[in-house]
Amino acid sequence: MVILDKKIEELKVLISEEEIKEKLITLAENIEKTFPADEEIYVICVLKGSVMFCTDLVKHFKHPIQMEFIRISSYGHESKSTNNLQAIDLTLPNLHEKNVLIVEDIIDTGLTARFLTDLFKIKHHPKKLVFTALLNKKCARQIDIEPDLYGFEIDDKFVVGYGLDYKGYYRNLPYIGYFPN
Ligand code: 5GP
Repeated sequence: MVILDKKIEELKVLISEEEIKEKLITLAENIEKTFPADEEIYVICVLKGSVMFCTDLVKHFKHPIQMEFIRISSYGHESKSTNNLQAIDLTLPNLHEKNVLIVEDIIDTGLTARFLTDLFKIKHHPKKLVFTALLNKKCARQIDIEPDLYGFEIDDKFVVGYGLDYKGYYRNLPYIGYFPN
C-alpha cells in the first residue's frame, strides 16, 4: 500500500469528466480550422501528461492525422515547477513543411511551451505550427508565451488527473482535481 502525502480523499474536483468531454468537441473543431482543409496534421503528444487529452482530442479530428510522441519532464516528483526541463525523448520524423500540432497538458510558467515551439521552428521548419494545451495557468507565467488554443484557464493551483500526476499517481482519474491547502 502506497502512502502519499496528498490523499485522494482530500482531492476536490476542479473540472469534471463531462466538462472535459464537452470542451474537447469545440476545441478540436477550432484547432482543425487553423489548418488547411484536408491536409494531414502531425499531432505531437507531449508525454506523459498529455496522453489522455491528446488521445481523446484526436478522436474528434476529421483531418487525416499522424500521431507522434515525445517525452519531456519538468516537475520531477514535486508539485512546483523546477524550471529544469529534461528532454527524455525527442525522436521525430522529418516535419519539414508539415502541419504540426503540439499537444500539451498544461501551460504553467511557459518554459516548456517556449522550449518546444523554438525547437520545432528551428529544427523542423514546419509549414504551420499550432500549440494547444488543455489547461492554462495564465497567472503562473514567467515567460511571455500563450498557447494558440486551450481548453480551460485555471488559477495557480497544483492539479492532478486526466493525465496529470502527483509523484506519478492520479493520472488515471477521469477528471481534473486539486488538493486544497
Ligand atoms: P511549464 O514549463 O509551463 O512551467 O510547465 C509545464 C509542465 O509542468 C506541464 O507539461 C506539466 O507536466 C507540469 N505541470 C505544470 N503545472 C502542473 C500542475 O498543476 N499539475 C501537474 N501535475 N503538473 C503540472
